[in-house]
Formats: sequence, C-alpha cells, structure tokens
Amino acid sequence: MSSLSGAARLAALLVALTAWAGLAIQWQASTALTGSAGAALWAMLRFFTILTNVLVAIVFTAAALGAKRAARPFLLGGTTLAILLVGIVYFLLLRGLLELSAGALLADTLLHMVTPALVPLWWLAFAPKGGLRPRDPLLWALLPLAYFAYALARGAADGRYPYPFMNVAALGWGQTLVNGLAIAAGFLVAGLLLVRLDRALAPLTSAADAPTSPDMDKMDLPEAEWKERLTPEQYHVLREGGTERAFTGVLYDNHDDGAYRCAACGNELFDSGTKFDSGSGWPSFTGPAAKDHVTLLEDNSHGMRRVEVRCAKCGGHLGHVFPDGPGPEGLRYCINSAALDFEAREDGK
Ligand SMILES: [Zn+2]
Repeated sequence: MSSLSGAARLAALLVALTAWAGLAIQWQASTALTGSAGAALWAMLRFFTILTNVLVAIVFTAAALGAKRAARPFLLGGTTLAILLVGIVYFLLLRGLLELSAGALLADTLLHMVTPALVPLWWLAFAPKGGLRPRDPLLWALLPLAYFAYALARGAADGRYPYPFMNVAALGWGQTLVNGLAIAAGFLVAGLLLVRLDRALAPLTSAADAPTSPDMDKMDLPEAEWKERLTPEQYHVLREGGTERAFTGVLYDNHDDGAYRCAACGNELFDSGTKFDSGSGWPSFTGPAAKDHVTLLEDNSHGMRRVEVRCAKCGGHLGHVFPDGPGPEGLRYCINSAALDFEAREDGK
C-alpha cells in the first residue's frame, strides 16, 4: 500500500540502531552482574521496556530495509504507542528507583528515554497518515493486557515481579488487576488520541484539490423535479447527502463487468475494473471512471474530516473518499449503492 521514502528509511535505521544498542548494552551489563548471558537474557525478557524495545528494533529494522509489512499503519501506530507508554510510565513512576552502574545507566537512558522519544518523532515526521481504523486502539489495548498475563504467570512461578505496580506479593491480586486494567485503559485512550491525530494529519486535501473540468455539461433541476424522478432512498442519498445502511445496497456485492452511472443523471462515474471488496458494506472503488466526472469537496460534518464525492454533472451526493485504499493512489471511494445505476457490458457476461 504505502512504501516509505528514503529519508524515512534512513531515520528508521537510526531508531533501530538506538534500540539495538540499548538492548545490547543492557544485556552486557546484566551478564556481568549474573555471570550468565542466558540467565541475563531470560531475566531481561521479563520487562515491558525490554520487550517493547525488541519490538521497535525489529519493526524499524524491517522498515529501514524497505519491508512493506513494516510500513503498515496499524503496526507502526501500535509500536509507537507501546514505546511511548514505556517513556511515560518510566517518567512518572520509575525514574530514580534504581542505583545503576555506568553501563546500565547508559542502557537505561537509551531504552527508557532516547528510543521512546525518537519513535513518536519518527511517526510524526514519516509514518504514512490516514490509514488507522477506529477499532485499532481496542486491538492495541490487548498488548498491555497480554503482557500483564505473561508477567504475572512468570511471577507466580518464581515470585519475581518486574514492576512495583504489578507485584502481587506486595499489593494483592485485587490491586494488581486494577492497576493492569488502568494501564490498558490509559493505552486505549492514548490509542484513540493517536487515531484522531492520524486523521487530522491525513493528506486528504491533496485529493480535494484535484482539478475538476469546467466543461462538463451540468444538469441543474429544481428539487421538486428530482423528487419526482428519484425513489425516496435515491433522493435521500443524492439530494440530501444521506447514507444508506451498510450491506443493504443492491450493488454492494455486484461483481459483474460494466459501468456504474449516476442514478440521477446517467453520468458515467465508476468502472467495474476498479471495484474491490473493502468489507465496509458499501460499493468501493480505487478511482473514478474519469477524474472530471466526480467532484471532491472537504466535508467536516459529524466531527470528522472527510472528503465528499459528488457527481460532477448533477451535483448529487455519492459518498466519501478515504486514504486507505489498495490501489497505487491509496484511495477508497466509498459510494452509496442507491446513488448508482449499473450497466452491464454487452460483450461481458
Ligand atoms: Zn449525476
């Protein structure tokens, strides 16, 4: 879908090296303390900080190498959120709790402060925006819950707990579980904020700035005339800017070859070749039949920043365009079935 620029990959390499360096220095310091590299690694993997830095190191190494999977918004957003939590929890709760040797101090600074600062900055500057879904924060919030379960299971086995706020022996189960849920809730709220930020920074204006042809024949009828020509549902969508319920449109599941025309004026809007299954419940296209057959407008209603798609000929409302499509332009035209008429191609089936 979206690949990263050269500058983004170079910066990702810097982030990855910082994370790897922190992990390596910590490992060396722990090995010196315990005398066993294996035991030191096993002890380190108890900590959310270590596990999250490992996640950052792997994701950003893959991103630096140009792996498309590492550039997925869901993965980059979740990784950013997790390492941000490391920095915030450390700053609020854990700073200065431990007396550290020089090597451990350097590792501590890299793992808790430098990497947690670099990753969100990288996300702001380079991560592709506009691809996060409303449900992503719920999935991300499973991460701290899974970690709590893992750390408590290890603690039940050997009586050691990585952080004071999850020490069952000292706090009891009730307080520990409350702490775990509070952290997951904080993670959820931070995730919702990240999705909002992602929406606000999405490059939607470039789509809305696309030129529309002034020579298209306009079709301008009085509203009473539209009301007579269209069914109540077509009128509601096309003339009143309504949205049909998901999965109810007759053309949602249409896979035949042909052209999709405006149900009001017959203007050819989309071609079956660009239709794809988005799972959204509305007919979805990667682009219009011709750029000047649709008009794109900024739409800030319902507390969202979206781009509305209208028929360029009659001005009828069709749907919205989102920057998370599969095509080369990364756009998803989400169109009401009620706004479309389908015309099967004669040579097709
Ligand atoms: Zn039209």
